[in-house]
Amino acid sequence: NSVLPRCSGCGISLQTTDTSKPGYVPEKAMQNDPVICQRCFRIKNYNESSSVTPDQDEFLRLLGQIGTKDALVIHIVDIFDFQGSVISGLQRFIGNNPVLLAVNKIDLLPKVSNWNKIRNWVQKQAKDAGLKVEDVILCSAKQNDGFDRLLEAIGQHRGDRDVYVVGATNVGKSTLINRLIRDYSDLEQELTTSRYPGTTLDMVNIPLDDGKFIVDTPGIMYPSRYTELVDTRDLGVLLPEKALKPAVYQLNEGQTLFFGGFARFDFIQGTGYHHSFTCFVSGRVPIHRTKLERADQLFAAHAGELLSPPTKDNIEKLPAWTRHEFRIAKGSHSDVFISGLGWVKVNSDQGSIIAVHAPKGVKVMVRDSLI
Ligand code: GDP
Repeated sequence: NSVLPRCSGCGISLQTTDTSKPGYVPEKAMQNDPVICQRCFRIKNYNESSSVTPDQDEFLRLLGQIGTKDALVIHIVDIFDFQGSVISGLQRFIGNNPVLLAVNKIDLLPKVSNWNKIRNWVQKQAKDAGLKVEDVILCSAKQNDGFDRLLEAIGQHRGDRDVYVVGATNVGKSTLINRLIRDYSDLEQELTTSRYPGTTLDMVNIPLDDGKFIVDTPGIMYPSRYTELVDTRDLGVLLPEKALKPAVYQLNEGQTLFFGGFARFDFIQGTGYHHSFTCFVSGRVPIHRTKLERADQLFAAHAGELLSPPTKDNIEKLPAWTRHEFRIAKGSHSDVFISGLGWVKVNSDQGSIIAVHAPKGVKVMVRDSLI
């Protein structure tokens, strides 16, 4: 009374006779416990590769290999951390191969966003980063949005090339690749794979119907993103779950905003009267307003308590803060961007001087405003 064996990854009935049919598993592997089909085995290896990250040299070496191939490159970036997740110098490594820029997590932008404006903004930022992109696709792996467009663009630009997917960690690469596998390869059921701890750093080939491959590269880790410095609990605080709710503050000169104990924004000086600032950070990061002259003392006395998260212990594990001062030009439309934490839009069109305090190494910059 033996039970028909099923793959513990995807649940499909296992068979050992036809390598080209779903559920195939080599005879030898039937003895394993649990048994998974060959395809899940590959995807398991894919998960292995994405759960560990190579150092930057190793990563650039992998990218350089793409330059020697005839490939279509899908670069996934995170709209919430665009400047933090764009791979600088990508073009240099991948040569003349075409790039599709998949801008993920658009579900995080406020509902009222003007998508044409966002697309133009992305295009300009990509250009400034030295990227020549064939197309920009706005998508949400989580809400299954924009995939038709992405698949269409892949079909349009792929020719008979392999498809290489590159991105920083946490941009949603796994989620997106699983989606591509479902739509492009003959896997019939959604996988229920869990994370497997692993050690493989090489690229992983995922076979497509036409004999070509989607090649997943491990995610590169950029220590300039706040999200890479924190533990998983604080990561859950920093990464917004839902659409951002912009918080507007009218500030006077000499006022400071604390973002929990993560960072601080000082409005030092401004001409004219009304100075309003819109904060785009995760709803789980509490914003605390205080006087600039009290800010140092407040942080020294209350970091990890009034000013939390992170906890006191976790703040102590982070690099000490450094101060970045910016002069926002009159008439400009600027965001003060803190990679991984979010950004503050400076609304006044009068000039102003502001400063940000954040852990050393976290990328802090002024950019054209996104929204
Ligand atoms: P990877 O490290 O690039 O493979 O990224 P994952 O697919 O593991 O996703 C990283 C984090 O981003 C997880 O917390 C996901 O839930 C989240 N995420 C992925 N795609 C989206 C998306 O489209 N929208 C939002 N809001 N979150 C996403």
